Amino acid sequence: MEKTNLLYEGKAKKVYETSDPALLIVDYKDDATAFNGLKKGTIAGKGEINNRVTNHLMKLLEQNGVPTHFVEELSPRETVVKRVSIVPLEVIVRNIAAGSLAKRLGLPEGTKLKKTVLEFCYKDDELGDPMVNEYHILAMEYATKEELDLISGYALKVNDVLSTYLKDLNIELIDFKLEFGRLADGTIVLADEISPDTCRFWDSVTGEKLDKDRFRRDLGHVEDAYHEILRRLMGE
Ligand code: 5GP
Repeated sequence: MEKTNLLYEGKAKKVYETSDPALLIVDYKDDATAFNGLKKGTIAGKGEINNRVTNHLMKLLEQNGVPTHFVEELSPRETVVKRVSIVPLEVIVRNIAAGSLAKRLGLPEGTKLKKTVLEFCYKDDELGDPMVNEYHILAMEYATKEELDLISGYALKVNDVLSTYLKDLNIELIDFKLEFGRLADGTIVLADEISPDTCRFWDSVTGEKLDKDRFRRDLGHVEDAYHEILRRLMGE
């Protein structure tokens, strides 16, 4: 499998077409951005770590009944995935208040939520990914009711599988962002990445942040945190 032409370049990944129209190659970059591109930097080794962490977790999810776009890891930073058209929603799952939720509701970060919270944002950089609810999603036809129900069910399943798996590694899954896509026949699959860029991971014992908040908030030891997640997941 080889890259043909560059289809899309995002903030953290490049996506290439291949000789097979149904398959794409994702190439992860070390570039990091935050606050809708306002803060820019690089995190050495991030591309490889996010590729390997994402693939490891996607495989775990497939084994647990969540269909994903994952096909095959090509190299430390490249992966073959199924071509999808992305549903233009960021699906956010929260177990513990942090980040924008803590701010919006005036909760101390770390407040345990009595019930898992599901949020949707419309994926649009110019608008700053505004939060939307089911009514907006159906009115704007970002997804159908059937798709939204499926996506919500998958997102909660991902939370159950990952929370349980990570707890054994002394990692608390605070919150995370998912994206879903449609295959050519309309099948909904989990797409994009699941990594320290897209999840909040806190050490269960010390509470130390092991994710992109170290970059966003200038907490230092950013690379160490990414490496620590890889080490706990893959034993290296
Ligand atoms: P918050 O809304 O608190 O900023 O983010 C909630 C969770 O979703 C965090 O784990 C965060 O990493 C993830 N998240 C939300 N929006 C984005 C985004 O645009 N890009 C990335 N990489 N992660 C996001």
